[in-house]
Amino acid sequence: MTDLVLSDSLTAARHRLAAALADAGRAPGAARLLAVSKTKPAALIREAWQLGQREFGENYVQEALDKQAELADLDDIVWHFIGPLQSNKSRDVAARFAWVHSVDREKIARRLNDQRPPGLAPLNVCLQVNISGEASKAGVRLEELPALAEAVRAMPRLALRGLMAIPAPADTPAAQRAPFARLREALEALRARFPDADLDTLSMGMSGDLEAAVQEGATLVRLGTAIFGERRRPQTND
Ligand SMILES: *Cc1c(COP(=O)(O)O)cnc(C)c1O
Repeated sequence: MTDLVLSDSLTAARHRLAAALADAGRAPGAARLLAVSKTKPAALIREAWQLGQREFGENYVQEALDKQAELADLDDIVWHFIGPLQSNKSRDVAARFAWVHSVDREKIARRLNDQRPPGLAPLNVCLQVNISGEASKAGVRLEELPALAEAVRAMPRLALRGLMAIPAPADTPAAQRAPFARLREALEALRARFPDADLDTLSMGMSGDLEAAVQEGATLVRLGTAIFGERRRPQTND
C-alpha cells in the first residue's frame, strides 16, 4: 500500500457513507462513522480527531489504554470497545470507555454494571449477536437474545442501546444483506418488547460491506481499513 493520506481516506469514507444513505433513501446523518483504530498509532487518531472524527473503536484493552493516555487532552473523544471482552479486563473497559459493542453474556454485563464508576454516565451497551450461526463464535444466539436483553435492561449502570454483529463474509450484495436484515428484525423485536428503552443503535457494516449494512438500517458503521489503511501488525488477543 502507498502512504496513507488520512484526510483523503476519511473524506472518501464520509462520502461513501453519505452515498450509501442516499441510495438507501435514508436521511443524511442517519448513520455515523465509528473509526476503528486498532493497531494504529495514537498520532493517527489525533489526526483524525483534528479532521473532525470523534468516535473511535478499539479491540484490545491494553493497547487502547495506552492510546487513551496519550490522547487524554482530547476531552470530547468518544471511545467504543468493540473487541472480544474477557472478564479480567472488564474493569478497565467499564472505567475507560463510553460504549461497549461486544456484550454477549450476562456474566460480563454484570461485571461491567458493577464496575462502572459512579461518577460516569451509564455505559452504553450493544449486545453482540451471532447472526451467521456457525460461522462466528462470538455473540449471543438469536434465541437467547431476549433473555440477555431483559437482564441487561435491569442493570442500572448500563444503558442498552442496540445490537452489533459481524456476519460471515459473503460475496454478493444480496448475501451480505441477509444477516443485516436479521439483525434489524431482532432490534425491531426488542423495541416492541421494551417500548420505553432507547434502542436506537444498529452497529453493523465494515469496510467490505458498509453499503449492505446501510441498506438494512445500520446507524453506526465500523470502518477500519477504509479510514486508516491496511493493518500490518498481526492481531493479538489481550
Ligand atoms: C477490525 C474491526 C472492524 C473494522 O474492520 P475493517 O474491515 O478494517 O473496516 C469493525 N468491527 C470490528 C468488531 C472489528 O474488530
